Amino acid sequence: ARPVVAIVGRPNVGKSTIFNRIIGDRLAIVEDMPGVTRDRLYGIGEWLEHQFSVIDTGGIEIDGDDAMLKSIRVQAELAIEEADVIIFMVDGKGGITSSDSEVAELLFRSKKPIVLAVNKIDNIKRQDDIYEFYSLGFGTPFGISGSHGTGIGDLLDEVVQHF
Ligand code: GDP
Ligand code: MG
Repeated sequence: ARPVVAIVGRPNVGKSTIFNRIIGDRLAIVEDMPGVTRDRLYGIGEWLEHQFSVIDTGGIEIDGDDAMLKSIRVQAELAIEEADVIIFMVDGKGGITSSDSEVAELLFRSKKPIVLAVNKIDNIKRQDDIYEFYSLGFGTPFGISGSHGTGIGDLLDEVVQHF
């Protein structure tokens, strides 16, 4: 079976944008399933000699505090179970939020390899925005831009190291 990579993070950080960049048009059609699995999209990614499954968690995102947090938590827990490597995505423009810290705490307890992606680093001047994310405790943050497609190669270089 292919290794599984899950993209996890609070709403609006750019998970779906990066998912689409990684899979191109290789979306896997998964039959309608009851319950939480509806929230997830599966695709196939390729990088170097590797082929892997990619999960976009939080396909359906509920707005508003409690429900939102609950759904992030459920998605993160599913990802931890299912994935071989987790891309933890945050928003480089927004800084660290309490939802980011919640997700970080869940991911910390897992034994899965976590690669931290700081999205929305849209130009070189924004590169300094990645530094505060060291404090999340997942090592070197990878600055990427879903809008421009930059940084994704370096991110995937790191991801495939864990296969
Ligand atoms: P998700 O909720 O985590 O799946 O996030 P989405 O992929 O739906 O993106 C949320 C919003 O951020 C959308 O308006 C995207 O167009 C925008 N977005 C995604 N990636 C970038 C990026 O690299 N830079 C900027 N400036 N905006 C982005
Ligand atoms: Mg999304």
